[in-house]
Amino acid sequence: MRQFAQTALLAWLLATASAAQADTLLTDVTLVDIETGTLARGQSVLIREGVIAEVEAVIAPSDGVAVIDGSGGYLIPGLWDSHVHVFSSATEPDTAFPLYLINGVTGIRDMGALWPISAQQELQARIEAGEVLGPRLILSGAWVDASPGSWPGMFLADTPVEARAVVERIASEGWAAVKAYSMLDEATYLALAEAADAAGLPLVGHIPERVALATAIDVGQDGMEHFGRVAMACATGEDRMLEDLRHVMADGGDQAAIFAVMTGQNRIILDTWDRDLCDTLLARLTASGMHVSPTLVVADFYTGNWPAADAPRMRMIPAEVREAWGRPDFRLEAMTDEVRALATDSIALDRRTFLMAHEAGVPILASTDASFANPYLFHGFSLLDELDLYVEIGLTPREALHTATVAPPRFFGLTDQDGTITPGRRADLVLLDANPLESLGTLRRPRAVIAGGVVLDRAALDALEATLLAEGE
Ligand SMILES: [Zn+2]
Repeated sequence: MRQFAQTALLAWLLATASAAQADTLLTDVTLVDIETGTLARGQSVLIREGVIAEVEAVIAPSDGVAVIDGSGGYLIPGLWDSHVHVFSSATEPDTAFPLYLINGVTGIRDMGALWPISAQQELQARIEAGEVLGPRLILSGAWVDASPGSWPGMFLADTPVEARAVVERIASEGWAAVKAYSMLDEATYLALAEAADAAGLPLVGHIPERVALATAIDVGQDGMEHFGRVAMACATGEDRMLEDLRHVMADGGDQAAIFAVMTGQNRIILDTWDRDLCDTLLARLTASGMHVSPTLVVADFYTGNWPAADAPRMRMIPAEVREAWGRPDFRLEAMTDEVRALATDSIALDRRTFLMAHEAGVPILASTDASFANPYLFHGFSLLDELDLYVEIGLTPREALHTATVAPPRFFGLTDQDGTITPGRRADLVLLDANPLESLGTLRRPRAVIAGGVVLDRAALDALEATLLAEGE
C-alpha cells in the first residue's frame, strides 16, 4: 500500500483553485445537449462547491465569484473511459490522472487492479472530497477467475460454493461490481451471477470462454467487456467452438490443446458469421440491456499501429514504462501466423458487427483498456482515439459522445451525474473551441477542463502537459 503522490503542479492547481474560487461563473457559452443534439447558445453556468448550481441566460456575478468568459465556446459534460486499469503499478495514478485531465476525461472505471481495495477507496474518497485532483473513480476491478488466475491478485473460484464465498467477500469489501473473467467454468459462472444478483451487485466483465453469450444474457449479466464475443456469437460456429473448448479444458486440460482451439476461433468466426443470426442475437442483447464496453482501440496493439517514440503521448509516459512496452510481449508472441494473417479481416468483421450492434440499440460504454500494463494503450489519449474510431465506423459524433458522457454515469447509477448540464449535477465539464457535434477534433485541445468544480484553463492544461513531458524524460 502507498500514499498517492500527487504531482506538485496538480496539488498547486488544486490549492489555488480552492483558495481563490469557491464559485465559478462561466458566461456566454453554448451548451451541447448530447442526448438530443441541440445547442443552447448564450448561456451562463454557475458552479458552486463542485456542483452546477444555476444555468441561465444571464447570471449576475456575486462577490468572490471567478468569472470565465466562455464566448465562442461549447460546453459538454466531462468524458468517461469505462474500462481502464490505473492501479497496475505503485505510481501509475501519478501519471494517469493528469493524462486523463488534459484529455477532458473526468471519470474512469477501473476494471482490475494490483492495489488493495482499501488503498483504492482511500484515493477515491480523497478525489470525492476535493483533496486530490483527478478523474472520478468507479472501482469495478473485483475480477473473479478460475485458479490459478489469469493475472496476479485475482479472486479465485473453481466451484459454485467458492463463487458464492467470493461474492460475499467482494460485497463486504465495497466494490462497485463483480467482474467475471475468462477461465471460469459454466457452473461456477452461473453461481457467480446468481450470488452477485442476490448481493445487489452488477455482474460485468468477460464472457467466460466456455459460456455462450446467450447464456450471459439469460443470467442477466449487466455489462460485458471487449467486443470479440459479440462477433463470435454472430457465428453459427459458436456452439462448436464452445464445445471444443469445454472438451479440451475439462479436468484442467492441456495448455497446448487449449491454445490450439482458441487460436483457431478467428477462422471459424470469419467463415461462419451470419447476418440473420447476428440480427437475432443483437435484438436479444438490446432487449437485455446489457452494456458493452468495446475497447476497439486494443486492436492497434496487436496490429503494431503504435505511435512513434517521439510522439508527445509517448514522451508523457515514464521511461521505465516505455521500456517495458518495448520488450517482447507474451500476447504478441502468442499470435500464430494464421491469426496474424486474419487480423485485418477479423478487425473489419468486429467493426461491421459493432456498427450493427449500435444500430440495433445495444448500449455502448466508450472504453479502452488503457493501462501501463497494456502496451500502447494510453490513459486519456486512447479514449479520444476510441471515439474517433466509432465515428470512422459510422456513428455520428453525437452518438460517439453519448457513449462517453450520457451512458456511463447512468449505467453506474450515479445520482449526481447523467450526462446533462443542469443544476444539481457534479461540475465535470469540458469547454471546447468548436462544436463537437460537427467534428470530434476539437476534443484534442480543450479550452478548459473542469473536474469536480476545479477549473483547469488552457494555461493550466499546458503546464500539466509540460510537467508530464519533463517527468517522462
Ligand atoms: Zn482490462
